[in-house]
Amino acid sequence: MTHSQASGPQHGLSRRDVVAGAVAGAGLAAVGCSSPSSSSAAASNTNQPQPSQPTPTIMTTQAAPHVLPALPYADTALEPVMSAKTFSFHYAKHHKAYVDNLNNLIKDNAELSAMSLEALIKKVAGDSTKAGVFNNAAQVWNHTFFWNSMRPGGGGAPKGRIADKINASFGDFEKFKAAFSDAAKTQFGSGWAWLIEDGGKLAVVKTPNAETPMAQGKKCLLTLDVWEHAYYLDFQNRRPDFITAYLDKLVNWEFAEKNLG
Ligand code: MN
Repeated sequence: MTHSQASGPQHGLSRRDVVAGAVAGAGLAAVGCSSPSSSSAAASNTNQPQPSQPTPTIMTTQAAPHVLPALPYADTALEPVMSAKTFSFHYAKHHKAYVDNLNNLIKDNAELSAMSLEALIKKVAGDSTKAGVFNNAAQVWNHTFFWNSMRPGGGGAPKGRIADKINASFGDFEKFKAAFSDAAKTQFGSGWAWLIEDGGKLAVVKTPNAETPMAQGKKCLLTLDVWEHAYYLDFQNRRPDFITAYLDKLVNWEFAEKNLG
């Protein structure tokens, strides 16, 4: 169970880490999310993310080996709600292990190794012979999306276009909060609560284990990890308090709005 030896060629900050971190810091990802046809443009512009071209995805790699993206803030930035100790396990061990497991599982599969993380997840979703690949790949994507769904000083009611969408879809912000809290509380066992856009309306959904609405082509706007490893060090068994703290103090509404596209 040592994690200190794992790194191999990905040890330290690769260029992709740096780019992914810079992009994540801007609240959106413009790297590695575009179609292969744009790769020449990206190659001529290696260290310059394109914030003018927001995309509804946080996918960070075009092909294996997949990398652990840098956090979009310091590991102390969300304290006291989410402690650096939680990040030291949840990000540095759990998230990293999903990345390492994924790379190991696909290293001899040329087809899967050539795919972007997002395309790979969609490809193996529902394929029982590739459950391990799906679980690890989706957990890589879900966690990167989760880190970006939060920011220091976040939470509370949104403003602007995302607020209009919330009001139109749920009635008002309080009704959205109730729906999201309910989904997060009632996800039995491990899983995720999501705000998604589906058919022009926003909706709250919950998924078990590694399942992700992205695999079904839904547009994800925000997520909350409700696996016990997400909150046990800071909240022990009090999942409802963790959910309230996320909604009141952490939610990154700017990220959600950018994901609307
Ligand atoms: Mn997690």
